[in-house]
Amino acid sequence: MTITSVEPFILRAENEGKSLGEIMIEHEMEIQEVSREEVMSAMGKIWKVMVSSITNGVKIEQRSPSGMSGGDATKLLKNRKSKSITGSTIVKVVARAIGVGEFNSSMGTIVASPTAGSSGVVPAVVYTVAEKLKSSEETIIKGLFASSLIGLVCDAVASTSGSEHGCQAEIGVSAAMAAAAAVEIAGGTSKQAVNAAAIMLKNSLGLACDPIAGLVEVPCIKRNGVMAASALVSADMSLAGIESVVPFDDVVIAMDEIGRMMPCEIKETSEGGLANTKTGRGYKNWLRSSGANQLQDASDE
Ligand code: SF4
Repeated sequence: MTITSVEPFILRAENEGKSLGEIMIEHEMEIQEVSREEVMSAMGKIWKVMVSSITNGVKIEQRSPSGMSGGDATKLLKNRKSKSITGSTIVKVVARAIGVGEFNSSMGTIVASPTAGSSGVVPAVVYTVAEKLKSSEETIIKGLFASSLIGLVCDAVASTSGSEHGCQAEIGVSAAMAAAAAVEIAGGTSKQAVNAAAIMLKNSLGLACDPIAGLVEVPCIKRNGVMAASALVSADMSLAGIESVVPFDDVVIAMDEIGRMMPCEIKETSEGGLANTKTGRGYKNWLRSSGANQLQDASDE
């Protein structure tokens, strides 16, 4: 079933006096024809993988083979008590999102949410909000279900692929999903959850996909961190009653339009933007030559 609008789900949540996450759980039960226990258990398994990707990711100390990433989550967590300007919650959410990105780069198992390159935002935000509010696992799972509606609509109406619509469709969407999850976990209404996603997605429009040397490291990993912090800010804005003038469904249509206008150089081809800077080209050339040397070494053995 293709879902192209959040509106029927908001309406159903309001009519039945339920949260968005609860409505999405019921929706999943209906389309899969399974029990609530089965639906909750399936998402519970996904949550366990997300938690594992955080706990493993924030421990990484070594740099990746390219030398472009690795060890940054650990640095942030070590620094947070002495020198942080933004405070513990923001530093932790950023470190966790970066940690998952680093874990992905080291071939660890992550949950694509919606993609591997953007896999840090949703787990980091859900984990950090749930930790702060001491939420139950059931509440966490409802948060993940609320986020799923945002991802489904973006995927159906626009795209969740950097190669199709740029990074707005990957990390922009993941941050919108995370903002909705944060509001759900904090006890906000369905309208507030979707509104938080709208605020977040609006502020990601036009984001280029320009990974250096075609590796999902720069700008991807740090971008997960920065956008996780933005997702929390969007959730707080919505919970305070600040509304997006442009409703979520329209923001997704705008993302689709912008994605179609973007040149192919900034759609994961690594031919434009950061990938095409002197530094970006330098890494690409160095990686190519060191890869060629490794092949040469292997053939000499
Ligand atoms: S820059 Fe491109 S590859 Fe990296 S996370 Fe964004 S969309 Fe994915």
